Amino acid sequence: MPDTTRRPFRGCSRVQLHPSRVEVFSNCSVISRVGRVAARLRSWACLFFLALGLCILMVSSRPVAAKASAQHFQYSLPRMGTIFRIEMYAGSDVEASRAAEAAFSRAEELEQIMSDYRADSELMRLMRDGAAAPVPVSSDLYSVLAKSLWTSKLSRGAFDVSIGPLVDLWRSARKAGRLPDAGEIAKAKALVDYRNIELDPVQHTVFLKRAGMKLDLGAIGKGYAADQMLAVLQSQGIQRALVVAGGEVVTGEPPPGSSGWKVRIDTADSDAGVAPCTLLLTGHAVSTSGDEHQFLEVNGHRYSHIINPRTGWALEGRSSTTVIARDSTTADALATAFSTMSVSDGIRVAQSLPGVSALWVRRVGGEWKRYASRGFPASCHGLSERSQ
Ligand code: AMP
Ligand code: MG
Repeated sequence: MPDTTRRPFRGCSRVQLHPSRVEVFSNCSVISRVGRVAARLRSWACLFFLALGLCILMVSSRPVAAKASAQHFQYSLPRMGTIFRIEMYAGSDVEASRAAEAAFSRAEELEQIMSDYRADSELMRLMRDGAAAPVPVSSDLYSVLAKSLWTSKLSRGAFDVSIGPLVDLWRSARKAGRLPDAGEIAKAKALVDYRNIELDPVQHTVFLKRAGMKLDLGAIGKGYAADQMLAVLQSQGIQRALVVAGGEVVTGEPPPGSSGWKVRIDTADSDAGVAPCTLLLTGHAVSTSGDEHQFLEVNGHRYSHIINPRTGWALEGRSSTTVIARDSTTADALATAFSTMSVSDGIRVAQSLPGVSALWVRRVGGEWKRYASRGFPASCHGLSERSQ
């Protein structure tokens, strides 16, 4: 009888090296005595399963390697009068800080364009020259103004980027701690009308049809900056990221091993002991507008920093409006727009837009009420489908 243990056939020899596979080797040897064809088939099978095992090992080890290499990084800087924050998962410190630096310098660039505090900003130049003749503007300023006009049309003027004169008036009123008088309101309101802003999509120019108009990007600029910063991070190869610009939050892909970024939203009823809720976001943005931080209180009445362009009056009473959208520019603009619209009009508009949902928190007759449009995560509004 030939010594088959000395002549392992091709394909099984390596298995022999592994103590636990000795049995496999001996089986192969036995088969080799029965017939060469069958043995060859088995040897190919052995090879195939070996390769398959190796592949499975490699594939299953890849996410583990990716998880191990993705570290969490966090950066923050003051921008646009508030704090901007970036969270991301990256392979190294160098990669993360290079991406964060690029994103923050994009925010700086946008501040230089959209600021109404810097005398040399592009927005200020537009306001100086834009009533004399159409002024060519950067694609950033053009995009923000185009989105503003889109929001104005959608909200039938509840959102108005030409609100500047009224914002100035109410800002002074907040500082002085007194209400503006009716004459002052009427004078400022006369300059507020988004229909007097003319955009030329071919020439990329803006024309302000009334002298003295003042544009205010406070309700949309931070959302736009957040979107742009996320886009910079993504262009640098960082996909798992979140950007916070003041109250605006936009998310890219989720943290490793998670289905989303946990984003806590603060609603106006939190003072009444209602616990803040947490959204799980991926590839979406959320914005909350309300009178939480900036308001004027006179004779027990509270006036918000958000103004109704139709009346010229700041919104009264406690409220907050939270909007989820696919991008932060939309969420920011709509949260302000929905704040000045009736809840039913807001729900109608929200439900007409793909990817948009909203939560309204209002104080009605001394009681806190919540209203939500279709699609807003039920975990956050606690309403049944019928009461939405
Ligand atoms: P937000 O916190 O995003 O709701 O934006 C509020 C800011 O937007 C205010 O501080 C004003 O600068 C500006 N604003 C106030 N009322 C309006 C309005 N009706 N439409 C557009 N912008 C507004
Ligand atoms: Mg806003």
